[in-house]
Amino acid sequence: MPVLGRDVTVPLVTGGEVTYAALDYAASAPALQRVWDDVAAYAPYYGSVHRGAGYLSQLSTDLFENSRRTVHEFLDCRDDDQVVFTRSTTDSLNLLAAALPAGCRVFVFETEHHASLLPWSDADVTYLDAPRTPADAVRTLERALADREPYGPALVCVTGASNVTGELWPVRELAAAAHAHGARIVLDAAQLAPHHPVSVRDLDVDWVAFSGHKLYAPFGSGVLAGRADWLQAAEPYLAGGGASRTVARRADGGVDVEWHTTAARHEAGSPNVIGVYAIASACKALTEAGFDALVARERHLIDTVRAGLAEVPEVRVLSLFGDDAPRVGVISFVVDGWNSSHFAAALSAEYGIGVRDGLFCAHPLVRTLLGSDPQDVGECGAPDAAPGERSLNAIRVSFGAGT
Ligand code: PLP
Repeated sequence: MPVLGRDVTVPLVTGGEVTYAALDYAASAPALQRVWDDVAAYAPYYGSVHRGAGYLSQLSTDLFENSRRTVHEFLDCRDDDQVVFTRSTTDSLNLLAAALPAGCRVFVFETEHHASLLPWSDADVTYLDAPRTPADAVRTLERALADREPYGPALVCVTGASNVTGELWPVRELAAAAHAHGARIVLDAAQLAPHHPVSVRDLDVDWVAFSGHKLYAPFGSGVLAGRADWLQAAEPYLAGGGASRTVARRADGGVDVEWHTTAARHEAGSPNVIGVYAIASACKALTEAGFDALVARERHLIDTVRAGLAEVPEVRVLSLFGDDAPRVGVISFVVDGWNSSHFAAALSAEYGIGVRDGLFCAHPLVRTLLGSDPQDVGECGAPDAAPGERSLNAIRVSFGAGT
């Protein structure tokens, strides 16, 4: 599938220039050409959503609401699921965290991206140890859920594909375990959705969250889709216009507000119609291209990169579930005797290859994989070993459509 930015040439420190190789899709994927074209075609007709009688406002409202239907379809949601547009996966998970029922317990593996690990701090959180196999993950969750007392509301938060190892998590099995113990589950699909079809019905998850900028739609929007009940029982995520149905002064001088009971309840303020339209465009483009073809192409790239890395004895690829685990195109590694930050900088400066180095906003996981002490490293992606010492962070290559 054509993506933007493939013809960027960058200067090399060794002289000359080279066509840039963008291998940092896991951070932000390039825009699909189709998304760019759709946005460019709509942009001249940009107007307010849900707020105007004029033609352009009506058009924008239609595009916005049709985009909601497209995302609902893309995720194969249940009929009564709601699709809420947010800024990103981080925003979506924080919204869900703000909507937890009173007394809700949250279960989350320590291996999660910080966006999935951290939003629950106001709840009673159980952090689960890193599992070493998918079956171990299911057993660990089952044990933790079985132990919980009393049996009130509970939520499990799990990633579909790791942003560090690319490994797929056993989402369907974890969802079954959660439901068997009366808990609900939210899927962090930030890394899964760009690479694999996500079916809410088939996986039987209660919510799913993803980001436009990782799904080839870099215009600042994200999605939280799933069950309406907790979302509608909660206070609006943001208070303001759009979320409120009616507002009236009371006789005692205060204000009465009736909030919407649709997705609009959590979409106060003028929405990012371009970003939402871009997400819908990406969903359509991916569906039309067919995930089978994308997965097959990516499988080939994964095998090629891993085979190449395996030829270098100094390289150690990071993995939680082992070499044979199914994975998406996200591969992290360290190079013995190399400082990861220097290595990544050299790839850029000497070869024009853009990768990421650091702890990838998944500090506990990367430290587990590297076997490093939590005291070793402070900031995200910051200090590192001196050249020749054991690396305290890693290098990540990631790719997808258009590579
Ligand atoms: N979850 C995972 C697995 C991710 O990889 C990321 C970003 O890298 C996020 C959540 C957060 O996404 P965003 O920064 O778009 O909110």
